[in-house]
Amino acid sequence: MEVRVRYAPSPTGLQHIGGVRTALYNYFFARSQGGKFILRIEDTDRERYSDESLQDLYDTLEWLGISWDEGPNVGGPYGPYVQSERLEIYQKYARQLVEDGKAYYCYCTPERLEKLREEQAASKSRYQGYDRHCAHLSEEERRAAEEAGIKPVIRLRVPTEGKTTFHDVLMGDITRRNSDVSPDPILLKSDGYPTYHLANVIDDHLMGITHIMRAQEWIPSGPLHILLYEAFGWEPPVYCHLPMVCGKDGQKLSKRHGDTAVRDFRAKGYLPEAILNYVTLVGWSLDGSREFFSREELEKCFVLENIHVSSGTFDYKKLDWFNGQYIRRKSDDEIVSLILPYMQKAGYVSASPTKQELDRLHMLASPLRERMRLVSDAVPLSAFIYDDRPCTDKSQYIAKGMDEEGTRTAFARGAEIVLANERAGRPFEETESAVKALAEELSVKVNAIFQPIRVAITNSTVSLPLHDSIRLLGLEETTRRIERALKLFN
Ligand code: GLU
Ligand code: ZN
Repeated sequence: MEVRVRYAPSPTGLQHIGGVRTALYNYFFARSQGGKFILRIEDTDRERYSDESLQDLYDTLEWLGISWDEGPNVGGPYGPYVQSERLEIYQKYARQLVEDGKAYYCYCTPERLEKLREEQAASKSRYQGYDRHCAHLSEEERRAAEEAGIKPVIRLRVPTEGKTTFHDVLMGDITRRNSDVSPDPILLKSDGYPTYHLANVIDDHLMGITHIMRAQEWIPSGPLHILLYEAFGWEPPVYCHLPMVCGKDGQKLSKRHGDTAVRDFRAKGYLPEAILNYVTLVGWSLDGSREFFSREELEKCFVLENIHVSSGTFDYKKLDWFNGQYIRRKSDDEIVSLILPYMQKAGYVSASPTKQELDRLHMLASPLRERMRLVSDAVPLSAFIYDDRPCTDKSQYIAKGMDEEGTRTAFARGAEIVLANERAGRPFEETESAVKALAEELSVKVNAIFQPIRVAITNSTVSLPLHDSIRLLGLEETTRRIERALKLFN
């Protein structure tokens, strides 16, 4: 049996971490099984639909390098893969259910249903929901309603007795009393649009889906879907509901925790490799210890059974660490193309960069690679090159535990060593040992000497390594900045 799985998002919002993880698990499972990965757009909720969400879906999957075997833009034998283009299919199958007695037309007006809701709420009756008023209309009643021009909905006849069970790969058997399934839910709305349940079940069946991997919040819909498969006389697929993605506090990941839309991570300079790798590990592991996986590796080694049963924790710090690790693996050329848009946006590099500007970026590549966590860090880390504003806040030069007097001496004598060594072209290790010796002589920490020099050169207490900063600025400019800062102390 060929594995066929799908990612079936509703374009009603930006792709977030949880949704993307669902897409990745489906994709990796299909690839590792030599099966097919299908993309289906569930866009029947026209009120919440947005073009922007759909475009964001395509952009995000493309950015992550996830391609689909069947779906929009590529087609396939079971298309169309966009639900709003399949309305006639749903209408036909819904009518079929009515003919078979498994579903029925309901002519209740919104006013009647509203009144029903109010009465139920007021009487605090245990029974909530549709009262099956139209389940047994006579032929005359039906015709009268039709003649009155009322457009009916189609509702599923849910059995009032018995239980429904479905099996989930991770959760085992899940059983619900049929009397607890919502009474006779709408399958087809009066405007001819299907509800999620009808369209989802029909499409999974017609598209030959073998395994359903989706968020655990869909478990409550499981029994209803099984009842629909039974009504149609179809075999349900294998279910694998995915545990939630939570923040560190154990609550479902949401904006309260930080960014959740992949687009926002992307804008900040996260790499697709890092997102793909880390998001996959939130709720899955190969052997409990291995951390680094490329997309190609996951396409081979992903195992469904290794999905964790308990919810996964999304740790922003851990993602930052992964991102840094992936940045370290980039070549100089790759770093330059990654940072270029950020440098342009900051106004450091022109829209069509000159050779001189590009040479600078190439010089920056290596020191940046060791220091960046996010690609956007390139801007603050290199700001000192493009902006020679001095730091006039004296306290910035003064290291912890130092005073102004001590800093003046440490700074002046340290700067002398650094500049002399640079002028003589000595390796930076020599500068470091000379500064260390000076620190001992003055009974101060090494940082008490380096901090004022660093602030003088880069206008920041956190910067690229000192010797790289000097190399980037050139000796002349470095000297000028140091002299300028020394004046502050004299
Ligand atoms: N359109 C649904 C969603 O966005 C699909 C759920 C499912 O996979 O069945 O979550
Ligand atoms: Zn009715």
